[in-house]
Amino acid sequence: MYRTNTCGELRLEHCGREVTLAGWVQRVRDLGAMTFVDLRDRYGITQIVADENTPDEIRNQVNALGREFVVQVIGLVRERASKNKNIPTGEIELEVRSLRVLSASVVPPFTIQNDTDGGDDLRMKYRYLDLRRAAVQQNLFLRARMAHVTRGYLADHGFIETETPVLIKSTPEGARDFVVPSRMNPGEFYALPQSPQIFKQLLMVAGFDKYFQIVKCFRDEDLRADRQPEFTQIDCEMSFVEQEDVLNMFEGLTRHLLKEIKGVEVDTFPRMPYSEAMEQYGSDKPDIRFDMKLHEITVLAQGKGFPVFDTAEYIGGICAEGCGEYTRKQLDELTEWVKRPQIGARGLVYIKCGTDGTVKSSVDKFYSEDELKNIADEVGAKPGDLVLILSGDKDHTRNALGLLRLEMANKLGLRPKDTFRPLWVVDFPLLEWNEETKRYFAMHHPFTSPKPEDIVLLDSDPGKVRANAYDLVINGVEIGGGSVRIFDSGLQARMFEVLGFTPEQAEAQFGFLMNAFRYGAPPHAGIAFGFDRLVSLFAGLDSIRDVIAFPKNNSGRDVMNDSPSPISLEQLEELNLVIKLPE
Ligand code: ASP
Repeated sequence: MYRTNTCGELRLEHCGREVTLAGWVQRVRDLGAMTFVDLRDRYGITQIVADENTPDEIRNQVNALGREFVVQVIGLVRERASKNKNIPTGEIELEVRSLRVLSASVVPPFTIQNDTDGGDDLRMKYRYLDLRRAAVQQNLFLRARMAHVTRGYLADHGFIETETPVLIKSTPEGARDFVVPSRMNPGEFYALPQSPQIFKQLLMVAGFDKYFQIVKCFRDEDLRADRQPEFTQIDCEMSFVEQEDVLNMFEGLTRHLLKEIKGVEVDTFPRMPYSEAMEQYGSDKPDIRFDMKLHEITVLAQGKGFPVFDTAEYIGGICAEGCGEYTRKQLDELTEWVKRPQIGARGLVYIKCGTDGTVKSSVDKFYSEDELKNIADEVGAKPGDLVLILSGDKDHTRNALGLLRLEMANKLGLRPKDTFRPLWVVDFPLLEWNEETKRYFAMHHPFTSPKPEDIVLLDSDPGKVRANAYDLVINGVEIGGGSVRIFDSGLQARMFEVLGFTPEQAEAQFGFLMNAFRYGAPPHAGIAFGFDRLVSLFAGLDSIRDVIAFPKNNSGRDVMNDSPSPISLEQLEELNLVIKLPE
C-alpha cells in the first residue's frame, strides 16, 4: 500500500497513529536540530519532521531530499508545538520513522506554490509543473464539478448525451475551419467541427427529442483572452419546443449551477431585446451589475456651433457617479484611453457637475450653463457627477461608449466578481450586412429561424428581419447562444438564397440537411454554452486559459510540446500534400 492517508487529511484526532503518506516534497527546512519537510499532494500539505530522536540514517535521508522529489513516508502523527492556523493540517505533524524516495526530481524551473516565481511563458512550457500548484488545480477541479453537475441536471431532464463526429465536412459556418487531409481519399479533406450544429439537428430529425454533449469545438480564429482554437461547449438541442421552452430549461441549468457550485440564488433572468441592449449599453452583452446607461443627446447638443457635434450622426453620454471632481490629469488620461485604436474615439467631451450646482465642461465656449445643465439632466447626472460624451457614427460611437462605461465601472469598483447578474438578450437581427463583400451573413448561423411575422421582410428589407435567436449573458460575458431552427426545407433553401448561395452551392454544402427535412422534421431549437467561459466566470478569472488543462498560447501554439510542427516528407507524400516530380 503506497499510502494510508492523504496529505490533506490528518488532524489532531489522528495523533498517536502510525500512517503512511506519499507525495511531492514542496520544501525542506534544515534548522540544525530539526528538519522540516512540507509534503504535498492534491489534497493538501502535511509537515514531516525529523529531530534529535530520529536515527541518523533517516535524518541524512531527509536532509538529502530536494524539491519535487516523490517520497513515501511512514511516521507517527503528533501535535505540533507551533501550530499553523492557515492550513487544515496545521495542528499536527508527522514524526518520520522511515522514508523511501520513489522518484527524484531535477531542480524545477519555478517554485510550485501559489505565489510562484515563474513567469507566464515558463509556466506554459512546463504546464505539468504549473498544474501541480493548488491554485491552478482548483480551477480544473471546479471545471470537473461543473461538468458533473451539468450532466446530472440535463440527464435528469431527459437529455440524451450523444457523441457526434470530429472528422466532418467543411462547411462555411462563420469562422474558418481547421482541416484534416484524408490519406485514403487523395486530395480530399475533413474539417474539425466548429460546433455539432448540423448533427444535433439531424438527431432531432431522428427523434432523439433532447440531446446534449459536452464537446470540443474548433475554430481557426485570431485569439484573445477568452478564445482558444479548441474550446468546449455544453451543446444542446430540443424538439417540439419554442424559444420560451429553451430559455426556461437553460435558465434552470444556470440557476442550478449557481446554487450548487457558488451557493448563489438569483432571480428570474431579465430579457432584453438586442435593439435595447445596443441603445442603452452599446453592446449585445451588457453587464447589468451596474446602471450607467447610454443616453442619446444628439438633438440637445446639435446646432450650437460646435462643429464636431454638428456633423455627428450620433452623440451620446454616460454619467459617472461621484466623479465630478476628476482632475485635469484624470480627464486627460480618459481622453487618451478613448483614443486608443481598440476604442477608436476621436476625442472626449466632459461636463463636471459641481456639488454646488455649477457645471464646467470642455466645450464651455459653445454652450451656456443652462444648455450644459440640460444635457447633464438628460444623461441623469446629479451634482457631484461627471458626464462623459462621445460623438460620431452611430454604431461605432455606441460601441465606444459601451466600452468607456465598462472602464469607468472598473475604476469605480462596480463589477464585483462574486455578484452574478444573468440576462437573456433576445430578438437578434437575422442577418448582418458585410460592407466588404457586399452581402448578408447570418448573424447566428444559417439554420436560425426568422421571426414568423418578419418573414415578409426577407424580400423587401432583409436587414430588418429579426431572428428567434437568443444569448445568455452573465456579467457582460456572452456565456451561450442559440436559436429556434428552420425545419422546413423550402424556407431553409430561401435562407441560403438570401445568404448568396446558388441552389447548386446550397445543395453541395447542405443538401443532406435539406434532404433530411423532407422526411418529416420536428420543430426544434437549441443552445450552446461556452463551457470554458462559464467556468472562468465562476472561478472569478479573466482568461479561459486558466480553466483549461493544456491551453494554447496567443499564437495558437502549445509551447510545451511545440505544436503545430512540421511533418516529414514521407507523411506529406502519404497524405498527397506534395506532388512528386518524376526523377
Ligand atoms: N451551434 C451554435 C454555436 O456554436 C449554438 C446553437 O445555435 O445551438 O454558437
